[in-house]
Amino acid sequence: MKFGIALFATFGLVSGADAFSSGVKQSARVASVSLQEKIAEELAIPCEEECALESFPNLPPSVHPGVVTGQAMVDLLNHAKENGYAIPAVNCVSSSGINACLEAARKNDAPIIIQFSSGGSQFYGGKALDNKNYAAAIAGAVSGAFHVRTMAEQYGVPVILHTDHCAKKLLPWVDGLLAASERYYAKHGEPLFSSHMIDLSEEPIEENIEICKEYLTRFAKIGMLLEMELGITGGEEDGVNNEDVALDDLYSKPEEIFQVYDALTPISDMFTVAAAFGNVHGVYSPGNVKLEPKILTRAQAYISEKLGDKSPADKKPVKFVFHGGSGSDVSDIQEAISYGVIKMNIDTDTQWSYWEGIKNFEEKYHDYLQGQIGNPEGPEKPNKKYYDPRECMRAAEVNTVKRLDKCFADLKCVNVLGLGSAKEAENVLGPRRGGLPV
Ligand SMILES: [Zn+2]
Repeated sequence: MKFGIALFATFGLVSGADAFSSGVKQSARVASVSLQEKIAEELAIPCEEECALESFPNLPPSVHPGVVTGQAMVDLLNHAKENGYAIPAVNCVSSSGINACLEAARKNDAPIIIQFSSGGSQFYGGKALDNKNYAAAIAGAVSGAFHVRTMAEQYGVPVILHTDHCAKKLLPWVDGLLAASERYYAKHGEPLFSSHMIDLSEEPIEENIEICKEYLTRFAKIGMLLEMELGITGGEEDGVNNEDVALDDLYSKPEEIFQVYDALTPISDMFTVAAAFGNVHGVYSPGNVKLEPKILTRAQAYISEKLGDKSPADKKPVKFVFHGGSGSDVSDIQEAISYGVIKMNIDTDTQWSYWEGIKNFEEKYHDYLQGQIGNPEGPEKPNKKYYDPRECMRAAEVNTVKRLDKCFADLKCVNVLGLGSAKEAENVLGPRRGGLPV
């Protein structure tokens, strides 16, 4: 009962409330740690050893294990830009997918972004639920957020909790999540989510910018970041089909990116831009659209020149997000990172890896998966240990962690935290009795 002892020690020295208020007085960093402890205490989550770290050896001191928001998130994103890596942002639709992401992040000693699409949020809550006014998608995303918040500390990695594309008709979904973050902020001093994407790239640019300004104003009050989209990501994802869009719209112009930068910066610097540089959702045969990462460096140079003395020292004023990275050449990905990409979205590749894990599992144990009883070892032999959903889901997770290893390497997001290799888990009971041979 290590947790019991830890709690006893905490209350033995100083009451939880006193510890919290004195923490707030000392510094913002200590406040965030105390807040984390307070949340852990409220949810009765044990927070020990790695997860009890205040900060990481190689990261700015504000960045701590668990979900990061506000200045800690900005410090983490700036660290990525300064050190030439991008953080993988993985679309998740289940707790199993989230756990695979957290496992991969710890294995790679790196931060991660976990994000939900509107459809993924709805799935997280359950496809049978009525989604009128996006109620199921809102509740599903909130449920996923609490799963991430509960487990991220246990894995000991920093996580940015985000939502993906939100087109105009989906704004009530983000409104619901923003209300949840405002309520969470009132109680805990930080938002539930770290950031949201608002994708009004199908609307006229003036309208896109105006609505983004409104949201950023609300986000800024509670330490949230806005990802906005400019230009159109081609292909198809989550029911949005941009396969027939005009070629010109697949490439953002430096003037447009400056227009966004100029409009949003006076409100808050907590925004990122998903600019279009020929990126396409999904994996297609090569040759359809050409990726032009140089669009990003031209935009940085253009904006730096406009800013003059006010331009940052690295001459990369904008933090860019890379959508539709699946199937891209590593050289293109790394070139884009050198131009200020700090986040790359991953969906298609991990959809495939999760499925492939199940496919390979089924192939391996096919003859044991055809009925509850009876396999090649005998007509009376039970198959329970093969069809237990944990077996095929774990196979999917392991295959996804393996695929994410490649993502972390491609994005140069490896050994970022300075924790070293993860310790072998000590308290697992080994393979379950009757578990499958490894
Ligand atoms: Zn996207």
